[in-house]
Amino acid sequence: MDIQLLTHVEKQSIGERQPLPDRYLRLSDDEMDERIVAAKGTLGERLVILGHHYQRDEVIKFADFTGDSLKLARAAASRGAAEFIVFCGVHFMAESADILRGPHQKVALPDLAAGCSMADMAEEDQLEICWRELAELGVDVNATVPVTYINSSAAIKAFCGKHGGVVCTSTNAAGVMSWAWQKGERLVMLPDQHLGRNTGYKLGVPLNRMAVWDPHEIGGGLTAEQTRNSTLLLWKGHCSVHTRFTGQQIDAFRAKHPDGKVIAHPECTFDVVQAADLSGSTEFIIETLRKSPKGSVWAVATEIHLVNRLMHELAPDRTVVTLDPFGCLCSTMFRVSPNHLLWVLEGLVEGTIHNQIIVPEETKRWSRVALDRMLEIR
Ligand code: SF4
Repeated sequence: MDIQLLTHVEKQSIGERQPLPDRYLRLSDDEMDERIVAAKGTLGERLVILGHHYQRDEVIKFADFTGDSLKLARAAASRGAAEFIVFCGVHFMAESADILRGPHQKVALPDLAAGCSMADMAEEDQLEICWRELAELGVDVNATVPVTYINSSAAIKAFCGKHGGVVCTSTNAAGVMSWAWQKGERLVMLPDQHLGRNTGYKLGVPLNRMAVWDPHEIGGGLTAEQTRNSTLLLWKGHCSVHTRFTGQQIDAFRAKHPDGKVIAHPECTFDVVQAADLSGSTEFIIETLRKSPKGSVWAVATEIHLVNRLMHELAPDRTVVTLDPFGCLCSTMFRVSPNHLLWVLEGLVEGTIHNQIIVPEETKRWSRVALDRMLEIR
């Protein structure tokens, strides 16, 4: 899958999103790389650059750590000497780094337009309304535990912290949800309905004990009976990247590679996860493919940059392809360009921090409660 065309087109309009000074536009790739290396060298131990697995190659090559969002936030906190954390990822990830950072550290996101469409599907006031409406529908909210995927705003995490809830990742969702069912009779899982459904089903919850809560409808669009019958209420949110994969794509892959295997991220739909051979987080996907037998063939249902890197890393011993032949790009992650990275780094060299991410203290305190609960679950 070659996405050079998009990169080329993007270069023409790079300053139209997060505005950049003119001197950061129309730079050659070589000059940009040289200046990023130079700024990094000048900042030395004072800087740590984090690169999420879905980040583009021209940016991730400068990362000191690569990984998923939680792994990166913890890596930054462990780099005590680093005063500046530049997070090449999306907004909620930089917020998590700000929540977990040391007191002397500052976090910057190279492009403030790099959000996450899934995280944006759950807003704090919608969750407040959900809680009030659940009570009106006869649900015991004191026996209802909010569980938020780490792909959510700090404000949503703080709500969970305040209401006895917890954060989960795609790696630990099963353990966290099991813990939450020991605390309450019902979970509200947000913002990703698919991670919630796929994990709940794996844990033995039948589909008829799950219901989708639509924050744009009164009472979530559910009757009182549907709500009370549900062990698992799934927030109506999704990842626009992972929901592009389909069962037909799996059929087409299997027709071409009868011995091939399909591995899917749990943000994919229930049908795709059921039809896949394996499903799990980005870290699980990477580990599984690296340990797979020589000669094996894999179709991977996750973001295209990670799939491309695995394809190059594991060739020629293993064949790795994207399940979607047109490639699924996280377009918001893609907004972090080398130009934006250079602008932030040279700003730090000059003593200016651009795009600092600051989570308000009260929000930080309660988000930390929800994150710490997760970290204590074994
Ligand atoms: S891949 Fe999906 S969940 Fe991940 S950052 Fe992009 S839009 Fe958000």
